[in-house]
Amino acid sequence: MPKIIGIDLGTTNSCVAVIEGGVAQVIPNREGGRTTPSVVGFTEKGEQLAGQIAKRQAVTNAKNTVYAVKRLIGRKLNAPEVQQAQEVLPYQLTGSETSDVRIHILGKDYSPPEISAVILNKLRESAEEFLGEEISEAIVTVPAYFDDIQRQATKDAGKIAGLTVNRIINEPTAAALAYGLGKHENEKVVIYDLGGGTFDVSILELNDGVFEVLATCGDSFLGGEDFDQKILDWIVGEFQKENNIDLRVDKLALQRLKEAAERAKCELSTTMETHINLPFISADRTGPKHFNKLLSRSKFEQMVADLVERTVEPCQKALWDAKLEPKDIDQVLLVGGQTRTPLVRERVEKIFGKLPCLEINPDEVVAIGAAIQGGVLKGEIKDIVLLDVIPLSLGVETHGGLFTKFLDRNTTIPTTKTMTFTTVADNQSVVEIHVLQGERELAAANRSLAKFEMIDIPAVPRGVPQIDVTFDIDASGILSVSAKDQSSGREQAVKVTPSSGLSSDEIKRIIDEAKFKSDEDRKQKEQTILKNRMSGLLQSTAKTFTEFGWLLPENDQTFVRDALKTAKHADEGIDTDVNFSRLMQDLEQSASLLTHAMFSSQANSKDGKAPQPAKPDDMLSWLNSAGIDTK
Ligand code: AMP
Repeated sequence: MPKIIGIDLGTTNSCVAVIEGGVAQVIPNREGGRTTPSVVGFTEKGEQLAGQIAKRQAVTNAKNTVYAVKRLIGRKLNAPEVQQAQEVLPYQLTGSETSDVRIHILGKDYSPPEISAVILNKLRESAEEFLGEEISEAIVTVPAYFDDIQRQATKDAGKIAGLTVNRIINEPTAAALAYGLGKHENEKVVIYDLGGGTFDVSILELNDGVFEVLATCGDSFLGGEDFDQKILDWIVGEFQKENNIDLRVDKLALQRLKEAAERAKCELSTTMETHINLPFISADRTGPKHFNKLLSRSKFEQMVADLVERTVEPCQKALWDAKLEPKDIDQVLLVGGQTRTPLVRERVEKIFGKLPCLEINPDEVVAIGAAIQGGVLKGEIKDIVLLDVIPLSLGVETHGGLFTKFLDRNTTIPTTKTMTFTTVADNQSVVEIHVLQGERELAAANRSLAKFEMIDIPAVPRGVPQIDVTFDIDASGILSVSAKDQSSGREQAVKVTPSSGLSSDEIKRIIDEAKFKSDEDRKQKEQTILKNRMSGLLQSTAKTFTEFGWLLPENDQTFVRDALKTAKHADEGIDTDVNFSRLMQDLEQSASLLTHAMFSSQANSKDGKAPQPAKPDDMLSWLNSAGIDTK
């Protein structure tokens, strides 16, 4: 039975897990990491890099490196979150009020699902290598507050990466699943999620398999990177005091500082002090400069105390919104790598008056929950039934700009509901169906998801036509709306699926492009391997030619010289349209001619019949003039 992988597609890091023998297991990536940076880099040559390798180029090639794409997925350019993100993102965002945001890199616009797909693809490949089988199905998690369009966009990203996303589930729901919660009656659970770039707190009510989000709150610009920055600022300050050099202006130094700061922070989660050692970090007239200092946990805690404090208010607000007090909470779960910092754990314990659960790695818990959901769908895990609910009410705009609800928030999904509408004017031939999401009474105050028109309604007095509108939500929370005109007797149905801003043609184009690219990438790789082999053969043949070329008859010498010259041009990239296989054949034939000449000269010299040697120097000087290296 094919496996379903569980993917936590995070803002800073992503993680993939799977159920093996009934137990959830995290899948390491090719580099051995259990989480993969959600970073995509583009090189000038048009190569796409994903994960750690892309993260490494973030400082030196910032404008061609996309991180935190999750902040942009399923959003329009003028969304406040996007505007806020643009202030800190080094790359340019494009788009309009009506179209989804695009990322402009090296003269090309990419959609956020396209970029997310590069990360998902890497995770899929890691899983395929690890499991030794093809993977085409996944459960992907999203924050509880993601709306329909953001969920659909995440699904599209999966599709582009060759994955059918069977379900999109909420991250806090996944964390609760990983802890085996939700099997009993009425539990209230807090999920405190402090990742690399965002902080989210959610309060869930779990009741016989129904996971209801009671409240969510957070700070989308607070995370582990701010903790790293505090250490980085401290290093820069100390270094400036001692050497009067500002390390911030040196991009390469900054990259090393960032890595060292994050490493120091992680070490301080388990040790009381750490050595930060950065040899040759800078230089001036007096010589190279090094940074070498101890940072204690208590000093670090002073530096980051204000960041930890910033998480308190959202927690209190979430409790308030859920109409709960700390004593009503049954469990507190920690999610996100940054919750490994002991000060964070202590503060969480104080806020909720409860020791948080620590059994599962906080950076893996969401992916594990997603894998468990996959196991439930495949029947590998039997004692959990997960019933998700819709986070916001769904409905249509009705006469006078009102919002008529079809499905109330917290309705269990999958679900379907039909309501009948009619016309408001005599002979009205068109009815616009405007689908919205939200809790407000006026349509304009809610979020517009989609619009479509029912046309060709027969000319009859108002109130006569009967138009059935059906809302259908699948298990991932994705909504489809269809309409059917009953009054005409003819069936006319229109279906709309709120999209991520990408039409199905666009998604197909991106998938095709990715497939096309993968062929191109593979060809390029094969070509590079051949070229490397050819360069090696060129060098060894040239070396043999200096020593034994003079033994060859004139026509063979010409053949070898031609082969060497063409190979040299190809090696230098002068000939761009090269048939490397053909060149290899010529070089191999040259090598065999030379070997043959070498052996027969040895045989002849033994019986004293060796020909008088011409000058081997001639060979060398020819090679030098052709610019061929023999060393
Ligand atoms: P996440 O997005 O959940 O993977 O969280 C990533 C953040 O967790 C990054 O800022 C990491 O530096 C941070 N992190 C990972 N491991 C640790 C650790 N042992 N101690 C403190 N922070 C950590």
